[in-house]
Amino acid sequence: METTAFGSEQAFMDAFHAALQNGELTPYYQPKVNAVTGKLEGAEALVRWIRPDGAILSPAMFVPRLEENRGILELDWHMLRKTCDFLRRLKADGVHRKAISVNFSRIHVYEDDFVPTLVRTVDEYGVPHRFIEVEITESALVDRPERIIALIDDIHAEGFRVAIDDFGSGLSSLSFVKDVQADVLKLDKSLLSHNCEDEKERTVLESIIAFAHRLHLTAVAEGVETKEQLGFLRTCGCDTIQGFIFGKPMPEAEMRAQFERGGVQSEAEDILVTQASASATQLLLDAVFCEYSLVIMANLTRNSYYMMEYQNFTQTSCPSTGAFDELIYHGSLTMYPDDQEKFRTAFSRENLFAAHARGEKKVCAVTRQIGDDGVYRTVQTTDYFVKSPSSEDVLIIALCHNVD
Ligand code: C2E
Ligand code: CA
Ligand code: CA
Repeated sequence: METTAFGSEQAFMDAFHAALQNGELTPYYQPKVNAVTGKLEGAEALVRWIRPDGAILSPAMFVPRLEENRGILELDWHMLRKTCDFLRRLKADGVHRKAISVNFSRIHVYEDDFVPTLVRTVDEYGVPHRFIEVEITESALVDRPERIIALIDDIHAEGFRVAIDDFGSGLSSLSFVKDVQADVLKLDKSLLSHNCEDEKERTVLESIIAFAHRLHLTAVAEGVETKEQLGFLRTCGCDTIQGFIFGKPMPEAEMRAQFERGGVQSEAEDILVTQASASATQLLLDAVFCEYSLVIMANLTRNSYYMMEYQNFTQTSCPSTGAFDELIYHGSLTMYPDDQEKFRTAFSRENLFAAHARGEKKVCAVTRQIGDDGVYRTVQTTDYFVKSPSSEDVLIIALCHNVD
């Protein structure tokens, strides 16, 4: 049912107020889980209007209209009280609870008594402030940056957690985010395409998550539906997942059962097992790093490299990232004089491209390399050609180890 079905503004508001009184406006809770362990980390309260005939109206049907006429203020405080009441009862029943986030429309930004009302309401239920996370949509930042920065400071100073919601949905400004004392950056679901297969989109997601971490913000991805999305978000180090893959918004009784269970969501277990390759991959890497003193990933097409592992035993220290050609030149200078030319020729990009074009799988050379202690060691360097699923660039993984 559309809210236009309520007819006039007055009829709609009358119906809304009646619904508030009758308990028709109720929170559903959507779990948030740790991206790696699948453990429950908290939930978000999302309003549902349950009509007497059982029809459930989603927020899109009435929240925008309430935002036009300030009815949203009443709704948000109602949702906060319902959430506090739920948290209070969980505590009374000895259930281990986690923080629940509540949405506050940007209209609140213009209210002078927002923080005192927040404190008073939560205190009435005896809920410690750390269990309430205030979600403020990113668009509020754009409207009135200086006002919102001060407001978030005040909310934070009272011990509440603050999340910047819908980040990436609109006119995101990275510079505002750096100025606010938030705890959480919620990535808008529009940043996720079907399976995160688009190269540019992957770069954007990776960068936003890295940016969040540099500002010491927890990165929460919203709207995660597929294993592919989850897998990619994990590789980017995303902290928390909220999405249908782990659970849709659910009535209180179901959410309570989730808190009681506490641990990994049962329906998530198979996802975690199939996705366990992330940690298996790490173990494999640890084993490789144990065997090889130097592991480099390079993109020959773009003449770039970065060091994945470097246990230095040579005099020349090398930048951890840079131009591949320079890496080979500097590397050659650590070789025994007779071996320098051999090293430079074997690992020149020209030679590597030619080997790749011939279909060879690797290029290998053994050279003598001088260490800090003045001792020459025999070192084997092998460049393996690897294929990126997302580009035609020629990539290599270089592994070096001492073969004395
Ligand atoms: P939001 O705050 O961004 O909430 C997340 C929305 O994404 C929710 O929609 C949730 O059901 C949906 N979602 C979560 N995971 C997935 C997924 O994997 N796939 C898809 N397709 N959707 C997913 P919902 O509950 O319909 O709420 C819509 C919006 O209404 C919310 O967006 C929020 O802006 C607003 N809203 C909801 N409750 C309140 C409230 O109490 N106060 C205020 N001011 N706004 C609210
Ligand atoms: Ca939200
Ligand atoms: Ca959101």
